[in-house]
Amino acid sequence: MKPAPFHYHAPQTIEEAVTLLAQVAADDGRVLAGGQSLVPTMAFRLARPRHLIDINGIAALKRLAVEDGKLCIGAGVRHAAFHRPVVDGPLGQLLSQVVRHIAHHPIRTRGTFCGSVAHADPASEWCAVAAALDAEMVARSTRGTRVIAAKDFFDDIMTTALADEELLAEVRLPLLPADTRFGFCEFNRRAGDFAIAMAVVVYRPGKGGVTDARIALGGVEASPRRMTAAEGALNGRVPSAATFAAAAEAAAVAADPLEDEGISAGYRRDLVRTLVRRALDEAAA
Ligand SMILES: Cc1cc2nc3c(=O)[nH]c(=O)nc-3n(C[C@H](O)[C@H](O)[C@H](O)COP(=O)(O)OP(=O)(O)OC[C@H]3O[C@@H](n4cnc5c(N)ncnc54)[C@H](O)[C@@H]3O)c2cc1C
Repeated sequence: MKPAPFHYHAPQTIEEAVTLLAQVAADDGRVLAGGQSLVPTMAFRLARPRHLIDINGIAALKRLAVEDGKLCIGAGVRHAAFHRPVVDGPLGQLLSQVVRHIAHHPIRTRGTFCGSVAHADPASEWCAVAAALDAEMVARSTRGTRVIAAKDFFDDIMTTALADEELLAEVRLPLLPADTRFGFCEFNRRAGDFAIAMAVVVYRPGKGGVTDARIALGGVEASPRRMTAAEGALNGRVPSAATFAAAAEAAAVAADPLEDEGISAGYRRDLVRTLVRRALDEAAA
């Protein structure tokens, strides 16, 4: 099928884009970023936006920079930018490990980091990373700029705190200290498919035991979030098989897994136990 007719807009600046959004958002105006989620749904006429605001021509959104200890990822930065570490240290390495799990290479050359976060698919790898690292989402509109914390951003399946007339201009991730350990593990039936479940783990192995533990799941619940009970089972303890097993068990108990055709909540809970454990083993290796 072909998309239903729509008006196409190609702003060259962020100001033009947010002015257009203010004008057409109420008339089903949508941002077009990489188009890797939006265009297929339009082709099947599951989405019929009346206006598309194509942000690909906005040079200011292509920015990828470190500022005040944070990696700032503009809305024009594509998944493929992360194939190689974009920043020295554990954050750059974590992102380049995770990106290999997102779809296939051609999709990664078009799809954007911020598009994934705005789209908020429960199985988005970038959403899980954003939740784990307490990312900041920078939303722009004609009313100004607001910064939304990850814990307040993801509301439900494909639903976020972004207002219709807001552009997600940038996502900011904190740089991770040099001694940070990280692991990422996901399960899907075929390489490149959306994951059925995934786990992101980050911690620092301090002298008195683990500090700054962060554990988030993706593909398991409606939205990604930090699993605080599992983090509590790690913090202050010496990294060991028993500690990791306890943290994985705490994550499995605390999870409220989605249930869909062919994949039960119990199966996803079992996956959580295994994936958190494997991600922790990987982090410690
Ligand atoms: C076959 C296939 C497999 C895939 N597998 C995976 C996978 O394993 N993991 C994964 O995470 N993703 C996967 N994807 C999705 C892909 O990562 C998309 O690139 C991503 O979900 C959306 O990014 P985009 O830039 O393409 O956004 P678009 O498709 O352009 O937009 C998606 C939605 O977000 C909105 N939007 C986009 N950018 C902004 C912004 N800056 N501000 C406000 N709203 C915005 C749009 O209006 C639209 O509603 C897959 C896609 C395909 C086709």
